[in-house]
Amino acid sequence: MTLSPVPKNLKAIREQQVFEIEWPTAPLTRIAFRDLRLLCPCAACVDEFTGERIVNPAMVPADVAPSAMKYSGNYALKISWTDGHDTGIYTWDYLSKLPLDQLEPLRS
Ligand SMILES: [Zn+2]
Repeated sequence: MTLSPVPKNLKAIREQQVFEIEWPTAPLTRIAFRDLRLLCPCAACVDEFTGERIVNPAMVPADVAPSAMKYSGNYALKISWTDGHDTGIYTWDYLSKLPLDQLEPLRS
């Protein structure tokens, strides 16, 4: 079993509405706050059996941003969002595999 990469640094850049993750070996991940919100992996956002995304993009404001971030153990980040959603736990493994190339269809 290989260990998930652990971010060197995590930053919510409010002026740019972008979340930035610095990895020890991989390129920097930059993702818009709203995209990260839409990719929330919790059971309210993704059907745990089918893997289907059930979060409704129409319900997520364009200017959604993290309202609080907290480490969950040493393997994940728990993000509370300004739209009131706070059940998302983003593991390092998940964050390192975000489907950044599929974000365009998710937004529509
Ligand atoms: Zn969620």
